Amino acid sequence: MTAAGPSEPPSPASGDHDDDVASLRERLAAAEAKVAELDRHNAELEQEMVRRGVKLSCTRIALSRAKIAFDESTRQRAEMVQDVAHDLRTPLTSIKGAAQNMLDGVAGPLGEDAQEYVEIVREHADRLIGALNWLLEAMRTTSAPMELSPEQIDVLALVQEVARSLLPIAAERGVALDVKGEASLAYADPDRLRSVVENLVGNALKFTSAGGKVEVRVGDDARGPCVRVIDTGVGIEAEDLKRIFERYYRRGQATGSSGLGLVISREIVRLHGGEISACSTPGVGSEFTVRLPRDGESSGIWAS
Ligand code: ADP
Repeated sequence: MTAAGPSEPPSPASGDHDDDVASLRERLAAAEAKVAELDRHNAELEQEMVRRGVKLSCTRIALSRAKIAFDESTRQRAEMVQDVAHDLRTPLTSIKGAAQNMLDGVAGPLGEDAQEYVEIVREHADRLIGALNWLLEAMRTTSAPMELSPEQIDVLALVQEVARSLLPIAAERGVALDVKGEASLAYADPDRLRSVVENLVGNALKFTSAGGKVEVRVGDDARGPCVRVIDTGVGIEAEDLKRIFERYYRRGQATGSSGLGLVISREIVRLHGGEISACSTPGVGSEFTVRLPRDGESSGIWAS
């Protein structure tokens, strides 16, 4: 306490001053306490951030490990499916060859019934081989980059060959299959291009009912060689049309369908430097167009 002399009584102003100083000290102490608390909070937050950063890094590492494991198991599965498909294709090719020999009369003439049965065997063996080829292709595109062996090819001749091989299916479905067009040269891998045309024509036949028509037009315009597959089938709704090139997409519950055919076809065409597109009117039919580069240089992928 401050002692005041008897001759100088404490002035009210000096009392006020002391009070101000005390209150300032109190506020200063409170502010210091607040700052200390904030510092503590800050330190805690920093620690929490470090903890979360570590957790995030751990999650990232776990994620990338899971991805590596997933990729590896996908690769192993693809390899296994490839092996099985490969093993099945060999005996099927023998069955088809034996049936063809019988139809060619190698083992003597066949009766009418026998001829019909052997034709069924050959046809179905052929279809199974086709399905296995697609499976192999699908596995190849999911497990390893596709390689092309391009050469100068006559697109019309290739399309005619594919159409001939699909005629039995067209006949079975009661759908007319016709090829029109002019000879046109393209620089492409014949096996891959054959798969694309087989898939498009196969789809067109599948989605066209008896009495309908599938026409394949081969042309060559300013943009280069092109193949159009036109059908008078069920057509594709606009919503589905946007998605048919997506992996595993199948309209409705299409049976016997993998939803991979168009994905693989597009991949093959793109690898050639070409493009594939589709348009359709539900209830009227669909049209799929494949455009190819005329030569290796225009596609830009054979340069190396
Ligand atoms: P998948 O290999 O199972 O046949 P695709 O990728 O070839 O599958 O086709 C995907 C889907 O696109 C099919 O399930 C079908 O719904 C539709 N589609 C393809 N071609 C046609 C067509 N010509 N007419 C009608 N729908 C078609």
